[in-house]
Amino acid sequence: MARWHPPSVDARVAMFSAGPAIHAHANVRMGPGGELAPSAPRGSIERGRPTGLSAWWGISSRAMAEAGPDRFVVSSFTPAYLDPAVRRTLGDRVAAARQELACCRACPRNCKVNRLANETKVCNTGRHPRVSSAFPHLGEEECLRGWRGSGTIFFSMCNLRCVFCQNWDISQKGSGPEVDVEGMAGLMLSLQERGCHNINFVTPEHVAPQIVEALAIAIENGLKLPVVYNTSAYDALSSLKLMDGLVDIYMPDFKFWSRQSSARLLKAKDYPERAREAICEMHRQVGDLRFTPDGLACRGVLVRHLVMPGLLDETREIFRFLAEEVSPDTFVNIMGQYHPDYQVGSIAASGRNAGSARYVEINRCPNGAELEGAHEAARSVGLWRFDQQRL
Ligand code: SF4
Repeated sequence: MARWHPPSVDARVAMFSAGPAIHAHANVRMGPGGELAPSAPRGSIERGRPTGLSAWWGISSRAMAEAGPDRFVVSSFTPAYLDPAVRRTLGDRVAAARQELACCRACPRNCKVNRLANETKVCNTGRHPRVSSAFPHLGEEECLRGWRGSGTIFFSMCNLRCVFCQNWDISQKGSGPEVDVEGMAGLMLSLQERGCHNINFVTPEHVAPQIVEALAIAIENGLKLPVVYNTSAYDALSSLKLMDGLVDIYMPDFKFWSRQSSARLLKAKDYPERAREAICEMHRQVGDLRFTPDGLACRGVLVRHLVMPGLLDETREIFRFLAEEVSPDTFVNIMGQYHPDYQVGSIAASGRNAGSARYVEINRCPNGAELEGAHEAARSVGLWRFDQQRL
């Protein structure tokens, strides 16, 4: 598989300026050589700059009033990695990242394969990440997408095996070319030139070491956007510590509370413990989510939770944990778009249930009562900062 090598800045700018307009929400796939496929000219995705924080960005007036005018708004923002003290650590971080890959413990699977030698195990990813797409995403939370898009880099493959995966063609089959760390740095700088508000790594858990390597290159070459770590929360603490000072916004998706559900539906029975540890570490590093005066998220933790049919008890426990053990000011996106996908509802070909539909207990969308119950569960434990666009 050919790997992408970063073109010159001029060539990257030409790449973005060329080509037909596309719908802003469409995935811009990687080109055959790993380059960003031509995308929309800037004018087609530019939206009006917001004038009112609470009006545009889903921070309710009640929430703003309770928070006080300044508590979650910073007057000026600089990514932590631009601090000279953090920059001086980049070399050591890259060395530690390569050690993680040499006997892979980059995620809780702890496979101990030598990925520097291109060995693979659970995540089916060797030395180089596979990048499915990279583009200015206008479908993320309002506070991330802003008016010029969130600069998303979607990694293929995953360290989980969610039977309901809503992006299984990317996470399980894999798509897109392998991209080396220089190429990843080039993608970040290209998205920055495009005007994106942030760099948003989607499904980064299994390629965290390579992200550290690539960030070191991008930072030395002028990256100055906040970094978003958009994760399932099945992260190794060692990988998160490598990210301390590099990531500004953590966006963990806390899926299940019980080991039983995690074993059956994610194929990772230790998921709840690892996710709890990870989210506490993320909050220790960056705190509650804060915004710039024009409503863009700039630092902190934003927790997503996908409401599942019939599993409201798990939702309640997750919200209780967030309120009591992380912070009652945790910013939460309660997502209601679950639909049966991937293995859910498929017919088992073998085993004692051969001929029957699989995972029938989640073979439906959550109903209105369950969605309302999730919101009520969050409010009842004291959570109050929500992504209002999704309510
Ligand atoms: S990142 Fe991949 S190889 Fe490494 S421990 Fe996790 S699943 Fe295993």
